[in-house]
Amino acid sequence: MSIQRQPRTLSFLSLIFPVFNEEESLPYLRKQLEAWLPSLGSLRVEIVLVDDGSKDGSCTFCEAWAKEVKNIKLISFSRNFGHQMAVSAGLRYAEGDACVIMDADLQDPLPVVRQMIARYEEGYDVAYGQRLSRQGETSFKKVTAWAFYRLMQKCVYKDLPKDTGDFRLVSRRVVDLVNAMPEGHRFLRGMFAWVGFSQIAVPYVRDERRFGETKYPLSKMLRFAWQAITSFSALPIRIVSLWGAAVALVGFLICLYALYAWLYGETVQGWTSLMGLIAMLGGSSILAIGIVGEYVGNIFEEVKGRPFYIVERTVNCGDGALSSGDTVRQDALRQKGRCL
Ligand code: UDP
Ligand code: MG
Repeated sequence: MSIQRQPRTLSFLSLIFPVFNEEESLPYLRKQLEAWLPSLGSLRVEIVLVDDGSKDGSCTFCEAWAKEVKNIKLISFSRNFGHQMAVSAGLRYAEGDACVIMDADLQDPLPVVRQMIARYEEGYDVAYGQRLSRQGETSFKKVTAWAFYRLMQKCVYKDLPKDTGDFRLVSRRVVDLVNAMPEGHRFLRGMFAWVGFSQIAVPYVRDERRFGETKYPLSKMLRFAWQAITSFSALPIRIVSLWGAAVALVGFLICLYALYAWLYGETVQGWTSLMGLIAMLGGSSILAIGIVGEYVGNIFEEVKGRPFYIVERTVNCGDGALSSGDTVRQDALRQKGRCL
């Protein structure tokens, strides 16, 4: 069954930028935005800057910018809560009929946003940027990213689009649905895909980072990938179960053989095979406990019910803004009638 799409006109757009130690990129971002925004004509635009606990001059820059220009909101965290939390806060504070999530280093080119708006106006709820190529990134990053998206799609969540980061336009109804999800492990691109409705790829070439360094070093990337897999799928536990079943079967066959050998008096010392088996079984049992433990850890984090992030201060967020320390989680629970 094909989903009916209604053409519509976008009148209010929110551009969301998570910012973490981006003092080198911010002046460039401001210059580029000031040059590009007039090309959108009468479309009303707000810019939502989320300072994710930067330690450099980013927050000072954003604050001065927001105090100068009224349609710029600033949400500043009490510490670094991570990229996905910064975007979650941006989505919570944005008021546009559609929101676009972008990197503050402008690796995602502004002109692509126009193509996304065109898709929104055709009636799509999500227009996600799909990378055709990644300029200026190491072969290692390209290969690991290639493998990550394919593994995620094949094994974890089949509707997760390939080569797609967080750069996307999402309609108000999708934003509201994602805001209402109370889970603390927020793998946003998976959550957007999970919501459904009509979604479409907007292919683009990702620029290289002009200023500063990536805030996603290898260790953070691996943690992100692991969190994405374990928050979205029980596949690792299933693999462990299958492995356990295979090992148990082999163990049973070895028992039969041992019994046979004992009956016919062929028992030998067998130290090597015994050691090998003990080591293999010990190793795989610990691995299995470790993987199950990861999920128990995730449940532990979730049941604590802590706020996703803590807002230290805001600029231009109006009287209706969440008070400092108020959270998406509290909001979502309130909507479900489970007030904290
Ligand atoms: N970012 C953030 N919190 C973090 C890490 C990154 O808000 O803990 C922001 C960062 O400032 C940038 C975006 O998230 O605007 C994406 O980060 P980055 O450009 O370093 O990632 P890459 O494009 O290299 O994958
Ligand atoms: Mg970037």
